[in-house]
Amino acid sequence: MNADKTSTAMKIKMILPALMEAKSPYWRPIKYSLFPPLGLATLSAYCSPNDEIDLQDEHIEEIKTDDNPDLVIIQVYITNAKRAYVLADHYRKKGAYVCLGGLHVSSLPEEAMLHADSIFIGPGEDTFPVFLNDFRKGKCKKVYVNAKRDIGDIPPVRRDLIKRQSYLVPNSIVVSRGCPHHCDFCYKDAFFEGGKSFYTQRVDAALKEIDRLPGRHLYFLDDHLLGNQKFASALFDGMKGMNRVFQGASTIDAILRGNLIEKAAEAGLRSVFVGFETLSESNLSQSNKKQNLGKNYEEAINRLHSLGIMINGSFVFGLDDDDKDVFKRTVDWGVKNALTTSTYHILTPYPGTRLYQSMKEQNRILHDDWDLYDTRHVVYKTTGLSAEELKKGYDWAYRSFYSWTNITRASLQHDNMKQIIKHFAYAGGWKKFEPLWNFMIKTKGLNRMLPLLEAILSKVNNVKSKGAQPSPFPAIA
Ligand code: SF4
Repeated sequence: MNADKTSTAMKIKMILPALMEAKSPYWRPIKYSLFPPLGLATLSAYCSPNDEIDLQDEHIEEIKTDDNPDLVIIQVYITNAKRAYVLADHYRKKGAYVCLGGLHVSSLPEEAMLHADSIFIGPGEDTFPVFLNDFRKGKCKKVYVNAKRDIGDIPPVRRDLIKRQSYLVPNSIVVSRGCPHHCDFCYKDAFFEGGKSFYTQRVDAALKEIDRLPGRHLYFLDDHLLGNQKFASALFDGMKGMNRVFQGASTIDAILRGNLIEKAAEAGLRSVFVGFETLSESNLSQSNKKQNLGKNYEEAINRLHSLGIMINGSFVFGLDDDDKDVFKRTVDWGVKNALTTSTYHILTPYPGTRLYQSMKEQNRILHDDWDLYDTRHVVYKTTGLSAEELKKGYDWAYRSFYSWTNITRASLQHDNMKQIIKHFAYAGGWKKFEPLWNFMIKTKGLNRMLPLLEAILSKVNNVKSKGAQPSPFPAIA
């Protein structure tokens, strides 16, 4: 179907299909009810105000499939690809025009093309409006490839389409695209291939978007909020006095450089996601994680704690230098250094990445069952430890880090009582109160937990740091 729709309002359906792991009996529903589908809400802003848009996120609701939209837009990640294709095939059979976009489509366009009328490669801010224009004229192309990398003038996100009460963090926001770094295992370079791979909004536009968000709490979903020093500095200056508390992500080198992290803390940064990835320099080199090489992790941790900023450390297991002891070493190090939360991953060679390419060349890719490319399964031939040891060690690391003993030990590393309590409440509350989270999700009341989160993220004054614990590894300074 590709009829002329220049004068009529359209029925548009935007779908984020559930990730495979979200449907697993072991899944934690709360993990998938955190953030609304911001990308689809961003694209929705390019539609006509007369269009009828139904934005559905399968993580929080059943997808209605008995409707008859004119146009269906589906966001595809690797572990929801199968589900996305089922939905795409269903709507194409019904006569709807179906578009697929997202990370997986950019990595494997030929695969996605089999299930779509049009596909989008790369970010959609310049191609989606062009597509809409073509669609209304009945002259769509099969493939739209992003060329212009500029989000200076994007229209305000259609937050009215988001079912706020169903998310713990409805105030998620993105003020940049991409990241200035080039880690081998990251999707980023494949998604932004052929152009700039890091760019930001205008500071005034970002501040305006922040202003539109009710309440105090914000979650910046940018890959690297501190990635552009000039932009981040002006943003934090502008946020001073806005009475916000926020969370975001940064790299070690940006935390250690200049006084940007102090400005962030002053503007309300209370928790930061940091990709430590590994405690081995050899693993860092293997992954092209240059921004971590030779950096003093403990100095960064100390600085964050002295500013009252909690840390969510991210780690990858299964890099070639890892041995059987890597799990215990990593957990112990995280506990001693008072990381509030830790996110562990099994190394996953996503298609389109340099890691995938090199493993393919070495004949190390075991299969292409994308459902298992979820960072919880071993999908490649390991070297330093067996696949079974890797999987078992990964599961053990989660259990161990989030045992009450280790949550307590990590909390007690702070020497400020308020910080001890906050750490304990945040880590314990996040991992140990599943029935409460499930009840809040069922009763569509997640949003009511926000004041509690804001209280935990409130400022801690006069924080003195005990000093971080040195790494037991000579490789890390
Ligand atoms: S720093 Fe993070 S977002 Fe940037 S390239 Fe590396 S893994 Fe990707």
